[in-house]
Amino acid sequence: GHAESALLEARRVGGNRTVHYEDTAGVTSQLTAALTAGEFAVVYQPIVDAEYGRLTGAEALARWIRPGFGSVPPSEFIPDAERSGFIRVLDRWVLRTACRTAASWPSDVPSKVTVNVSGQELDQPDYYEQVVTALEDAGLPADRLVLEVTESTLDAESAAALEVLRRLRGLGVRIAIDDFGTGYSSLSRLHRLPADILKIDRSFVAELRPTDQEAPVIAAITALARTLGLRTVAEGVEEPYQAALLRRYGCDEIQGWLCGRPGDGDLVGAALAGPHVVAQVLAGNR
Ligand code: C2E
Ligand code: MG
Ligand code: MG
Ligand code: MG
Repeated sequence: GHAESALLEARRVGGNRTVHYEDTAGVTSQLTAALTAGEFAVVYQPIVDAEYGRLTGAEALARWIRPGFGSVPPSEFIPDAERSGFIRVLDRWVLRTACRTAASWPSDVPSKVTVNVSGQELDQPDYYEQVVTALEDAGLPADRLVLEVTESTLDAESAAALEVLRRLRGLGVRIAIDDFGTGYSSLSRLHRLPADILKIDRSFVAELRPTDQEAPVIAAITALARTLGLRTVAEGVEEPYQAALLRRYGCDEIQGWLCGRPGDGDLVGAALAGPHVVAQVLAGNR
C-alpha cells in the first residue's frame, strides 16, 4: 500500500550513499511510517521587507507532530533523516507541499515561498525535474519559489549540482545561501556560486546589543552582498533594535520572532490578502 511504496522510495533514494548508521532501516521505516501516517507538517515563517515592514513571503519549515511528544523540531529528526537518506523523501514532500500552499496565496500580490534543500537531495540526478514537476503540479510560477541551500552545502557541491541550480535559476527560481557566515566559503568561490539571496545567519543578529551604535559584521556582510549583487535576508530577528540596525545597513528583508513565529500557511495567505504590514519591525526606528 501507500506506506510500503513510500518505504521502498526511501530505500531507493537512500541506497546509493555511504551510510554510517547502525539501524538505518529502523530509523528510515519509523520516519517513513510517520510521514505516511500524516505526522509531518510544514509551517511557514513570515519574511518581511526591512524598510516598510511589508510581508514578502515565508520560509517552509518541517515539523514532526509526534503523538505523545508534540511538535518535534528539525534539530531532533534531521540528523537521523540525513544519516538514513530519509531527508530526500522529506525534502521532496516539503517542496511539493510548500508549492501547493504558495499557489493558494493571492496571485495579484507579490510573494515567495522558500524551501530548504539538503545536499543529498541536490545531488539527485532528477532534482531539476523534481522541482519543475512540483511547480507544474501546484500551478506555481517559478519566480515564486526560493530554494535555500546552506553555505557549507553549497561549498561542498559538485559542478553538476551547481549546474542544476543554474538551470533552475534560468526558469526564474531563486537560490538563497542559508546560514551565511557560518561556513568557510572563499570569496573567489562565493562570487561564482549561482545565488540571488544571502541569508545572514542568526548568530550575527544575536550578537547585536540595544546600545550598539554600529554593527561592523552586518556592515561587512551587507556591503559584500551589494558588491556581489545579492539581496540580503537576516534571520533570527527578535527585537526592534536589531531590525533598526539591519535596516540602517541596507539589509533588504528580515525574518524572526519579531515578524512572526512559524505557523499555518493559510495565515500567510490571509495576511498577504490584507494590508500585511508588520508594525513591530519599524518600532526600533531612531
Ligand atoms: P534554517 O533554515 O536556518 O531556519 C531558521 C530556523 O531559525 C528555524 O528553526 C526557525 O524556527 C528558527 N528561528 C526563526 N526565527 C527565530 C528567532 O527569532 N529566534 C530564534 N532563536 N530562532 C528563530 P527550525 O524550524 O527549528 O529549523 C532548523 C533548521 O532545520 C533550519 O534552519 C533548516 O536548516 C532545517 N530544516 C527545517 N525544515 C527543513 C526541511 O524541510 N528540509 C531540510 N533539508 N532542512 C530543514
Ligand atoms: Mg532555511
Ligand atoms: Mg537559515
Ligand atoms: Mg539558520
